[in-house]
Amino acid sequence: MNTVYIALGSNIEPRKDYLDQAIEMLEKHPGFTLIDQSLIYETDPVGYVDQPAFLNMVIKGHTSLTPFQLLDVCQEVEKSLGRKRGVKWGPRTIDLDILLYNNENIETEHLNIPHPRMLERAFVLIPFSDLDNLTIQGTSISQYINQLPDQERKGVRKWEPKNGEEEFEHFAN
Ligand code: AMP
Repeated sequence: MNTVYIALGSNIEPRKDYLDQAIEMLEKHPGFTLIDQSLIYETDPVGYVDQPAFLNMVIKGHTSLTPFQLLDVCQEVEKSLGRKRGVKWGPRTIDLDILLYNNENIETEHLNIPHPRMLERAFVLIPFSDLDNLTIQGTSISQYINQLPDQERKGVRKWEPKNGEEEFEHFAN
């Protein structure tokens, strides 16, 4: 069995629902077992900043799929939840990034593991640290977090539903 970490993000309502549905779809796949999940964080957009805040989280799973099969499954989930590929780093119903697959290093055109930007993104590192304080390339996740500028750490805040607001929006649609 292979251990994988996947980052999830959404910034189109109902954001929490998209996260839930994506996890549910992965869990239904016979080649994937959910082991653990981080808290959910609300995060300021990075890169293209003129867009709504994201909800981000990281999950840990066991999989019998190869990295490339897992990428296909993640892209199927993105597609079926209606993700349109538009502006790079722009709004998205759901984004799934494979962060780690065992200790493997994969560098291909369509798949890079460890995910190349994970070690510099507060919205990945902070939820990741809820799960495991792994050491990657000689540095621990908590050390990577401490190295980030204050401003970036402050852009990642624990999220909780406000009186079921997000669920209500979903049912109202
Ligand atoms: P994005 O639009 O930022 O989600 O990027 C999606 C593209 O990144 C896909 O076409 C993937 O082939 C590629 N990609 C490279 N490495 C990874 C990875 N570790 N996890 C998910 N997508 C990846």
